Amino acid sequence: MTATTWRALLKGKHQLSLRLFLLLNAFSAGFSIVSPSANTQHFTAPIIMVLVISLSCLLWQFINKKKLININVVSLIIGLLWAWHIYIKVSAMPVVDLNFLIIALLAILFIGSISFINNIQAFFASCLPATAVILWLDHGENWPRVLYSVVLPGIGITIQHIIQKRNDNFTRRLMDKLLEEKETLNDLSMLDPLTGLYNRRGFRNRLDTILALGSGQHFVLLLDIDHFKAYNDNYGHSMGDQALTHVSAAIRDAVRSRDVVTRYGGEEFMILLTDIDAERAIQTAERIRQRVYDLKIPHLFNDDVATHVTASIGIAALEHSDIEEALRQADTALYRAKRQGRNSILISDSLLPA
Ligand code: GH3
Ligand code: MG
Ligand code: MG
Repeated sequence: MTATTWRALLKGKHQLSLRLFLLLNAFSAGFSIVSPSANTQHFTAPIIMVLVISLSCLLWQFINKKKLININVVSLIIGLLWAWHIYIKVSAMPVVDLNFLIIALLAILFIGSISFINNIQAFFASCLPATAVILWLDHGENWPRVLYSVVLPGIGITIQHIIQKRNDNFTRRLMDKLLEEKETLNDLSMLDPLTGLYNRRGFRNRLDTILALGSGQHFVLLLDIDHFKAYNDNYGHSMGDQALTHVSAAIRDAVRSRDVVTRYGGEEFMILLTDIDAERAIQTAERIRQRVYDLKIPHLFNDDVATHVTASIGIAALEHSDIEEALRQADTALYRAKRQGRNSILISDSLLPA
Protein backbone atom coordinates (compact mmCIF):
# COMPACT_ATOMS: atom_id res chain seq x y z
CA MET A 1 0.00 0.00 0.00
CA THR A 2 2.68 2.43 1.10
CA ALA A 3 5.17 1.99 -1.75
CA THR A 4 2.41 2.67 -4.25
CA THR A 5 1.14 5.69 -2.33
CA TRP A 6 4.69 6.98 -2.32
CA ARG A 7 5.12 6.48 -6.05
CA ALA A 8 1.75 8.09 -6.70
CA LEU A 9 2.80 11.11 -4.64
CA LEU A 10 6.04 11.46 -6.59
CA LYS A 11 4.19 11.13 -9.88
CA GLY A 12 1.68 13.71 -8.75
CA LYS A 13 4.54 16.09 -7.98
CA HIS A 14 6.04 15.55 -11.45
CA GLN A 15 2.67 16.09 -13.07
CA LEU A 16 2.44 19.44 -11.33
CA SER A 17 5.76 20.50 -12.86
CA LEU A 18 4.48 19.33 -16.25
CA ARG A 19 1.44 21.54 -15.82
CA LEU A 20 3.69 24.50 -15.13
CA PHE A 21 5.76 23.63 -18.22
CA LEU A 22 2.66 23.46 -20.41
CA LEU A 23 1.27 26.71 -19.06
CA LEU A 24 4.51 28.62 -19.62
CA ASN A 25 4.83 27.16 -23.13
CA ALA A 26 1.28 28.09 -24.03
CA PHE A 27 1.95 31.58 -22.76
CA SER A 28 5.27 31.85 -24.59
CA ALA A 29 3.79 30.50 -27.85
CA GLY A 30 0.85 32.90 -27.55
CA PHE A 31 3.20 35.79 -26.97
CA SER A 32 5.37 34.80 -29.98
CA ILE A 33 2.26 34.78 -32.18
CA VAL A 34 0.94 38.13 -30.95
CA SER A 35 4.27 39.87 -30.90
CA PRO A 36 6.73 38.07 -33.15
CA SER A 37 10.36 38.98 -32.63
CA ALA A 38 12.52 40.21 -35.50
CA ASN A 39 9.37 41.27 -37.40
CA THR A 40 8.95 37.97 -39.15
CA GLN A 41 5.78 35.96 -39.72
CA HIS A 42 3.26 35.70 -36.88
CA PHE A 43 2.20 32.13 -37.40
CA THR A 44 4.46 29.15 -37.95
CA ALA A 45 3.19 25.58 -37.99
CA PRO A 46 5.31 24.55 -34.97
CA ILE A 47 4.31 27.53 -32.81
CA ILE A 48 0.64 26.75 -33.39
CA MET A 49 1.35 23.13 -32.54
CA VAL A 50 3.09 24.16 -29.31
CA LEU A 51 0.05 26.22 -28.38
CA VAL A 52 -2.42 23.50 -29.30
CA ILE A 53 -0.46 20.68 -27.63
CA SER A 54 0.12 22.69 -24.44
CA LEU A 55 -3.50 23.72 -24.12
CA SER A 56 -4.87 20.26 -24.97
CA CYS A 57 -2.53 18.54 -22.51
CA LEU A 58 -3.58 21.01 -19.82
CA LEU A 59 -7.23 20.38 -20.62
CA TRP A 60 -6.65 16.62 -20.67
CA GLN A 61 -5.01 16.80 -17.25
CA PHE A 62 -7.88 18.88 -15.97
CA ILE A 63 -10.50 16.37 -17.17
CA ASN A 64 -8.57 13.14 -16.59
CA LYS A 65 -6.83 13.74 -13.32
CA LYS A 66 -5.94 10.04 -12.96
CA LYS A 67 -4.41 9.48 -16.41
CA LEU A 68 -0.79 10.59 -16.35
CA ILE A 69 0.98 12.14 -19.29
CA ASN A 70 4.50 10.99 -20.16
CA ILE A 71 6.55 14.03 -19.16
CA ASN A 72 9.70 13.20 -21.12
CA VAL A 73 7.78 12.60 -24.34
CA VAL A 74 5.80 15.83 -24.06
CA SER A 75 8.86 17.92 -23.20
CA LEU A 76 10.80 16.39 -26.11
CA ILE A 77 7.96 17.06 -28.58
CA ILE A 78 7.64 20.66 -27.43
CA GLY A 79 11.44 21.06 -27.49
CA LEU A 80 11.55 19.79 -31.10
CA LEU A 81 8.73 22.12 -32.12
CA TRP A 82 10.54 25.12 -30.67
CA ALA A 83 13.68 24.09 -32.59
CA TRP A 84 11.62 23.86 -35.76
CA HIS A 85 10.04 27.23 -35.09
CA ILE A 86 13.47 28.86 -34.64
CA TYR A 87 14.69 27.26 -37.83
CA ILE A 88 11.72 28.63 -39.82
CA LYS A 89 12.15 32.12 -38.37
CA VAL A 90 15.89 32.26 -39.05
CA SER A 91 15.47 30.90 -42.58
CA ALA A 92 13.17 33.86 -43.32
CA MET A 93 15.74 36.39 -42.09
CA PRO A 94 18.15 38.02 -44.56
CA VAL A 95 20.94 37.73 -41.98
CA VAL A 96 20.97 35.59 -38.84
CA ASP A 97 19.89 37.74 -35.92
CA LEU A 98 22.05 36.64 -32.99
CA ASN A 99 19.89 38.50 -30.48
CA PHE A 100 16.82 36.58 -31.62
CA LEU A 101 18.67 33.28 -31.17
CA ILE A 102 19.92 34.14 -27.69
CA ILE A 103 16.53 35.41 -26.51
CA ALA A 104 14.78 32.35 -27.93
CA LEU A 105 17.29 30.04 -26.25
CA LEU A 106 17.06 31.84 -22.91
CA ALA A 107 13.26 31.69 -22.98
CA ILE A 108 13.35 27.94 -23.62
CA LEU A 109 15.98 27.41 -20.92
CA PHE A 110 14.04 29.55 -18.48
CA ILE A 111 10.85 27.55 -18.97
CA GLY A 112 12.73 24.23 -18.81
CA SER A 113 14.68 25.04 -15.68
CA ILE A 114 11.82 26.61 -13.77
CA SER A 115 9.46 23.72 -14.57
CA PHE A 116 11.86 20.79 -14.30
CA ILE A 117 13.96 21.99 -11.40
CA ASN A 118 14.52 18.40 -10.30
CA ASN A 119 13.90 16.40 -13.45
CA ILE A 120 17.10 16.34 -15.53
CA GLN A 121 15.70 14.19 -18.33
CA ALA A 122 12.72 16.42 -18.98
CA PHE A 123 14.89 19.52 -18.78
CA PHE A 124 17.34 18.29 -21.42
CA ALA A 125 14.55 16.88 -23.60
CA SER A 126 12.90 20.30 -23.65
CA CYS A 127 15.99 22.39 -24.44
CA LEU A 128 18.53 20.26 -26.31
CA PRO A 129 16.76 20.35 -29.73
CA ALA A 130 16.66 24.17 -29.76
CA THR A 131 20.26 24.36 -28.53
CA ALA A 132 21.45 22.08 -31.33
CA VAL A 133 19.52 24.05 -33.99
CA ILE A 134 20.84 27.37 -32.68
CA LEU A 135 24.44 26.08 -32.69
CA TRP A 136 23.92 24.90 -36.25
CA LEU A 137 22.22 28.11 -37.52
CA ASP A 138 24.92 30.21 -35.91
CA HIS A 139 27.57 28.05 -37.62
CA GLY A 140 29.11 27.49 -34.23
CA GLU A 141 30.41 31.03 -34.06
CA ASN A 142 29.04 31.74 -30.58
CA TRP A 143 29.22 28.22 -29.27
CA PRO A 144 30.85 29.12 -25.91
CA ARG A 145 28.01 31.52 -25.10
CA VAL A 146 25.34 29.06 -26.21
CA LEU A 147 26.90 26.19 -24.30
CA TYR A 148 27.33 28.36 -21.22
CA SER A 149 23.61 29.21 -21.33
CA VAL A 150 22.71 25.51 -21.36
CA VAL A 151 25.39 24.12 -19.07
CA LEU A 152 24.74 26.62 -16.27
CA PRO A 153 21.10 25.61 -15.62
CA GLY A 154 22.09 22.02 -16.49
CA ILE A 155 24.57 21.89 -13.62
CA GLY A 156 22.12 23.60 -11.29
CA ILE A 157 19.39 21.11 -12.11
CA THR A 158 21.72 18.12 -11.78
CA ILE A 159 22.78 19.20 -8.30
CA GLN A 160 19.18 19.99 -7.39
CA HIS A 161 18.24 16.52 -8.64
CA ILE A 162 20.82 14.88 -6.39
CA ILE A 163 19.68 16.90 -3.36
CA GLN A 164 16.07 16.02 -4.10
CA LYS A 165 16.90 12.31 -4.45
CA ARG A 166 18.53 12.40 -1.02
CA ASN A 167 15.56 14.20 0.46
CA ASP A 168 13.21 11.69 -1.12
CA ASN A 169 15.23 8.78 0.24
CA PHE A 170 15.27 10.34 3.66
CA THR A 171 11.51 10.95 3.61
CA ARG A 172 10.97 7.42 2.34
CA ARG A 173 13.03 5.93 5.18
CA LEU A 174 11.25 8.13 7.69
CA MET A 175 7.89 7.00 6.36
CA ASP A 176 8.89 3.31 6.52
CA LYS A 177 10.05 3.79 10.10
CA LEU A 178 6.80 5.48 11.09
CA LEU A 179 4.76 2.72 9.51
CA GLU A 180 6.81 0.11 11.35
CA GLU A 181 6.18 1.94 14.63
CA LYS A 182 2.49 2.11 13.80
CA GLU A 183 2.41 -1.67 13.26
CA THR A 184 4.16 -2.23 16.58
CA LEU A 185 1.75 0.09 18.38
CA ASN A 186 -1.14 -1.66 16.73
CA ASP A 187 0.19 -5.03 17.92
CA LEU A 188 0.85 -3.68 21.39
CA SER A 189 -2.66 -2.31 21.70
CA MET A 190 -3.90 -5.87 21.16
CA LEU A 191 -1.70 -7.45 23.82
CA ASP A 192 -1.79 -7.44 27.59
CA PRO A 193 1.47 -5.86 28.78
CA LEU A 194 1.93 -8.07 31.85
CA THR A 195 1.40 -11.49 30.31
CA GLY A 196 1.92 -10.85 26.59
CA LEU A 197 -1.41 -12.61 25.95
CA TYR A 198 -4.16 -11.04 23.88
CA ASN A 199 -6.34 -8.49 25.58
CA ARG A 200 -10.06 -8.26 24.78
CA ARG A 201 -9.37 -6.12 21.74
CA GLY A 202 -6.80 -8.58 20.42
CA PHE A 203 -9.21 -11.41 21.10
CA ARG A 204 -11.98 -9.70 19.10
CA ASN A 205 -9.59 -9.27 16.24
CA ARG A 206 -8.57 -12.95 16.25
CA LEU A 207 -12.16 -14.07 16.72
CA ASP A 208 -13.28 -12.13 13.65
CA THR A 209 -10.61 -13.83 11.55
CA ILE A 210 -11.46 -17.28 12.93
CA LEU A 211 -15.19 -16.83 12.39
CA ALA A 212 -14.57 -15.53 8.87
CA LEU A 213 -12.69 -18.74 8.06
CA GLY A 214 -15.72 -20.52 9.46
CA SER A 215 -14.76 -24.17 9.89
CA GLY A 216 -15.25 -26.65 12.73
CA GLN A 217 -16.56 -26.44 16.25
CA HIS A 218 -15.01 -24.02 18.75
CA PHE A 219 -15.02 -24.01 22.56
CA VAL A 220 -14.68 -21.25 25.08
CA LEU A 221 -12.96 -21.79 28.44
CA LEU A 222 -13.11 -19.23 31.25
CA LEU A 223 -10.38 -19.70 33.84
CA ASP A 224 -10.25 -17.90 37.17
CA ILE A 225 -7.48 -18.24 39.75
CA ASP A 226 -8.75 -19.44 43.12
CA HIS A 227 -8.57 -17.16 46.14
CA PHE A 228 -6.31 -14.78 44.33
CA LYS A 229 -7.35 -11.81 46.43
CA ALA A 230 -5.97 -13.63 49.45
CA TYR A 231 -2.76 -14.34 47.51
CA ASN A 232 -2.35 -10.67 46.68
CA ASP A 233 -3.20 -9.49 50.15
CA ASN A 234 -0.70 -11.84 51.77
CA TYR A 235 2.16 -12.07 49.29
CA GLY A 236 1.96 -8.59 47.80
CA HIS A 237 0.99 -7.22 44.43
CA SER A 238 4.30 -7.84 42.73
CA MET A 239 4.29 -11.52 43.74
CA GLY A 240 0.72 -11.56 42.47
CA ASP A 241 1.91 -10.25 39.12
CA GLN A 242 4.61 -12.91 38.95
CA ALA A 243 2.06 -15.62 39.69
CA LEU A 244 -0.16 -14.26 36.91
CA THR A 245 2.76 -14.40 34.47
CA HIS A 246 3.54 -18.02 35.37
CA VAL A 247 -0.09 -19.06 35.10
CA SER A 248 -0.33 -17.37 31.67
CA ALA A 249 2.70 -19.27 30.43
CA ALA A 250 1.28 -22.54 31.76
CA ILE A 251 -2.00 -21.96 29.91
CA ARG A 252 -0.20 -21.05 26.69
CA ASP A 253 1.94 -24.21 26.98
CA ALA A 254 -1.10 -26.42 27.47
CA VAL A 255 -2.88 -25.39 24.24
CA ARG A 256 -2.12 -25.50 20.52
CA SER A 257 -0.78 -22.50 18.67
CA ARG A 258 -4.08 -22.00 16.84
CA ASP A 259 -5.96 -21.59 20.13
CA VAL A 260 -6.43 -18.05 21.37
CA VAL A 261 -5.44 -17.26 24.96
CA THR A 262 -6.71 -13.96 26.33
CA ARG A 263 -6.27 -12.14 29.60
CA TYR A 264 -9.93 -11.44 30.10
CA GLY A 265 -9.80 -9.57 33.38
CA GLY A 266 -7.50 -9.26 36.41
CA GLU A 267 -6.96 -12.94 37.24
CA GLU A 268 -9.37 -14.29 34.65
CA PHE A 269 -8.35 -15.84 31.38
CA MET A 270 -10.37 -16.86 28.37
CA ILE A 271 -9.22 -19.58 26.05
CA LEU A 272 -10.79 -20.14 22.65
CA LEU A 273 -10.12 -23.68 21.48
CA THR A 274 -10.62 -23.68 17.74
CA ASP A 275 -11.71 -26.50 15.46
CA ILE A 276 -11.95 -29.12 18.20
CA ASP A 277 -14.52 -31.63 19.50
CA ALA A 278 -16.12 -31.58 22.97
CA GLU A 279 -14.05 -34.48 24.29
CA ARG A 280 -10.73 -32.90 23.36
CA ALA A 281 -11.87 -29.53 24.62
CA ILE A 282 -12.58 -31.06 28.04
CA GLN A 283 -9.21 -32.86 27.97
CA THR A 284 -7.49 -29.56 27.19
CA ALA A 285 -9.30 -27.80 30.05
CA GLU A 286 -8.21 -30.54 32.40
CA ARG A 287 -4.63 -30.29 31.11
CA ILE A 288 -4.62 -26.55 31.76
CA ARG A 289 -5.95 -27.00 35.29
CA GLN A 290 -3.28 -29.64 35.95
CA ARG A 291 -0.47 -27.44 34.52
CA VAL A 292 -1.47 -24.56 36.79
CA TYR A 293 -1.57 -26.92 39.74
CA ASP A 294 1.84 -28.36 38.78
CA LEU A 295 3.40 -24.91 38.91
CA LYS A 296 3.32 -25.39 42.68
CA ILE A 297 3.28 -21.66 43.40
CA PRO A 298 2.96 -21.63 47.19
CA HIS A 299 -0.40 -20.21 48.37
CA LEU A 300 -1.04 -21.07 52.01
CA PHE A 301 -4.21 -18.98 52.02
CA ASN A 302 -5.82 -21.29 49.49
CA ASP A 303 -5.96 -23.90 52.24
CA ASP A 304 -9.52 -25.07 51.70
CA VAL A 305 -8.32 -26.19 48.23
CA ALA A 306 -4.56 -26.78 48.25
CA THR A 307 -1.35 -25.25 49.56
CA HIS A 308 -0.47 -23.69 46.23
CA VAL A 309 -2.08 -21.70 43.43
CA THR A 310 -5.00 -23.41 41.68
CA ALA A 311 -7.56 -22.40 39.08
CA SER A 312 -11.13 -23.26 38.14
CA ILE A 313 -12.44 -23.48 34.59
CA GLY A 314 -15.89 -23.27 32.99
CA ILE A 315 -16.36 -24.75 29.50
CA ALA A 316 -18.96 -23.88 26.84
CA ALA A 317 -19.39 -24.47 23.13
CA LEU A 318 -19.37 -21.53 20.73
CA GLU A 319 -22.64 -21.93 18.86
CA HIS A 320 -23.79 -19.82 15.89
CA SER A 321 -20.79 -17.49 16.34
CA ASP A 322 -22.52 -16.11 19.46
CA ILE A 323 -19.53 -15.35 21.67
CA GLU A 324 -21.59 -13.47 24.28
CA GLU A 325 -23.82 -16.47 24.85
CA ALA A 326 -20.82 -18.84 25.01
CA LEU A 327 -19.13 -16.60 27.57
CA ARG A 328 -22.29 -16.39 29.64
CA GLN A 329 -22.56 -20.19 29.73
CA ALA A 330 -18.84 -20.61 30.49
CA ASP A 331 -19.18 -18.08 33.31
CA THR A 332 -22.12 -19.96 34.82
CA ALA A 333 -20.12 -23.19 34.65
CA LEU A 334 -17.12 -21.45 36.24
CA TYR A 335 -19.28 -20.10 39.04
CA ARG A 336 -20.52 -23.65 39.75
CA ALA A 337 -16.97 -25.02 39.65
CA LYS A 338 -16.04 -22.46 42.30
CA ARG A 339 -18.96 -23.44 44.48
CA GLN A 340 -18.15 -27.12 44.12
CA GLY A 341 -14.80 -26.55 45.81
CA ARG A 342 -12.54 -24.89 43.17
CA ASN A 343 -9.43 -26.40 41.44
CA SER A 344 -11.81 -28.07 39.01
CA ILE A 345 -13.29 -27.85 35.54
CA LEU A 346 -16.99 -27.80 34.78
CA ILE A 347 -18.92 -28.15 31.56
CA SER A 348 -21.83 -25.93 30.72
CA ASP A 349 -25.24 -27.63 31.02
CA SER A 350 -25.92 -27.06 27.35
CA LEU A 351 -23.07 -29.43 26.50
CA LEU A 352 -24.40 -32.30 28.59
CA PRO A 353 -26.66 -34.88 26.91
CA ALA A 354 -30.31 -34.05 27.57
P1 GH3 B 1 -12.23 -16.74 43.78
O1 GH3 B 1 -11.54 -17.99 44.13
O2 GH3 B 1 -13.69 -16.80 44.09
O3 GH3 B 1 -11.98 -16.37 42.36
O4 GH3 B 1 -11.64 -15.61 44.69
P2 GH3 B 1 -10.65 -14.47 44.30
O5 GH3 B 1 -10.06 -13.92 45.51
O6 GH3 B 1 -9.68 -14.95 43.28
O7 GH3 B 1 -11.64 -13.48 43.57
P3 GH3 B 1 -11.75 -11.92 43.55
O8 GH3 B 1 -12.41 -11.58 42.25
O9 GH3 B 1 -12.42 -11.44 44.82
O10 GH3 B 1 -10.29 -11.34 43.59
C1 GH3 B 1 -9.51 -11.22 42.44
C2 GH3 B 1 -8.24 -10.55 42.88
O11 GH3 B 1 -7.25 -10.60 41.85
C3 GH3 B 1 -8.37 -9.09 43.17
C4 GH3 B 1 -7.02 -8.54 43.00
O12 GH3 B 1 -6.36 -8.50 44.21
C5 GH3 B 1 -6.32 -9.58 42.12
N1 GH3 B 1 -5.87 -9.03 40.87
C6 GH3 B 1 -6.61 -8.69 39.81
N2 GH3 B 1 -5.83 -8.20 38.82
C7 GH3 B 1 -4.56 -8.25 39.25
C8 GH3 B 1 -3.30 -7.88 38.72
O13 GH3 B 1 -3.18 -7.42 37.57
N3 GH3 B 1 -2.20 -8.07 39.45
C9 GH3 B 1 -2.27 -8.59 40.71
N4 GH3 B 1 -1.16 -8.76 41.41
N5 GH3 B 1 -3.44 -8.93 41.26
C10 GH3 B 1 -4.58 -8.76 40.55
MG1 MG C 1 -12.15 -13.27 39.37
MG1 MG D 1 -10.36 -15.60 41.41
